Amino acid sequence: MGSSKLAALGGNPTVPTLHPYRSIGVSEIEAVNRVLESQCLSGFYGSPGPEFLGGPVVRAFEEQWADRFGVQFAVSVNSNTSGLIAAMGAIGLSPGDEVIVPSWSMSATAVAPLFYGGIPVFADIEEETFCIDPLEVEQRITEKTRAIIAVNLFGHPAQLSRLRRLADEKNLFLIEDNAQAPLGREGQNLCGTVGDIGVYSLNYHKHIHTGEGGVCVTASEELAWRLQLIRNHGENLVESEEIQDISNLVGMNLRLTEMSAAVGTAQLADIDAHVESRERIAKALSEGTSDLKGWTPPVVRQECRHNYYCWVARYSEEEVGIPLKLFSRALSAEGFPNFTGYLPPLYTLPIFQRRQAIGRHGFPFSLSERDYPSGLAPVTERLHDDGVLLFEPCAWEIDDELSNKLVEAVRKVHEQVESLAAADLV
Ligand SMILES: *Cc1c(COP(=O)(O)O)cnc(C)c1O
Repeated sequence: MGSSKLAALGGNPTVPTLHPYRSIGVSEIEAVNRVLESQCLSGFYGSPGPEFLGGPVVRAFEEQWADRFGVQFAVSVNSNTSGLIAAMGAIGLSPGDEVIVPSWSMSATAVAPLFYGGIPVFADIEEETFCIDPLEVEQRITEKTRAIIAVNLFGHPAQLSRLRRLADEKNLFLIEDNAQAPLGREGQNLCGTVGDIGVYSLNYHKHIHTGEGGVCVTASEELAWRLQLIRNHGENLVESEEIQDISNLVGMNLRLTEMSAAVGTAQLADIDAHVESRERIAKALSEGTSDLKGWTPPVVRQECRHNYYCWVARYSEEEVGIPLKLFSRALSAEGFPNFTGYLPPLYTLPIFQRRQAIGRHGFPFSLSERDYPSGLAPVTERLHDDGVLLFEPCAWEIDDELSNKLVEAVRKVHEQVESLAAADLV
């Protein structure tokens, strides 16, 4: 039969039009309706009393979250970003303290410490799993280091047990930015539960969502309490609760509504099905393309579970024969939605390049003495520039037949790179 003409060169696309994943079903709709009918859309008060911890749906949601992930305490918040900021406050981060973060992540990971005057210090990532490299972390620990933020990037666990040991040895807090990796696992440990605090995102793009939302988990009663205080105007409870350590208790309003918690409860009940459906797509893609030259599907470290928030293939232009961007474009033309590079290394953000975050005086002060040159994290830079092609299984409704089409699309483009190279597309 031979292969048909590439869609980028005027042939027919391989993959039929994909439709967005529909995760909101009857149980979410009924749960929200019950809240609406109750008339009480939020049960929070920012003052002493039982309402300080939120309404009945929020509290039930937190209990179920703690149960599902096997943790002592779950504190809901209105986003993962605010959860990370609250976590920085809860650990007592102070101006000038250093927090070691990976160079590759969503910006919130590196920005969170800045709110308390902390200094993000960037560590490069591991080539195979894209997560923070423990050796790099070790090299960056100084007298001023207070915490490490590990990101379980794309749904694969960072080296959590190694980082836990390192943090314990050096008396540092380990925080997990687990926005992307609910049900990801290293050995018996669920992602998010190894750090002193783990933070999950419930934004629309993640495995399960409430539109916007997040959850912090911890085994520490003290940290849970400080998170609750920061979430909801903790300054108002200092006297009534006779709180001694009032550092960082200038609280915010990071509260989740009862409606969001209702959606979250329904989504959590189905989390296995949501994640398993993405795993199935990702595994089909990996298996169907693993033999291709210059193309490396996601690596899963031994004894780990990847939840495939993103399915990320490493790409070698030299071996495939055409630039990544051209391959990506041809794949899009086949109807396979994909993008390249993920996000630029975090230290290339203007905040770091211009050394100005909060206020006009270069605050946090010690940021102004830092240097964030290119070459700081060579692995991240290389992968971002032309090393990876990404696909988001969470975004699309995909059955086995469509998974096969995605595989077919990759194979078709890979087989015909010569015709693409010759076509001189602009
Ligand atoms: C999505 C995401 C965030 C931010 O989550 P929000 O809930 O949108 O605030 C932070 N870190 C990572 C790694 C993410 O993927």
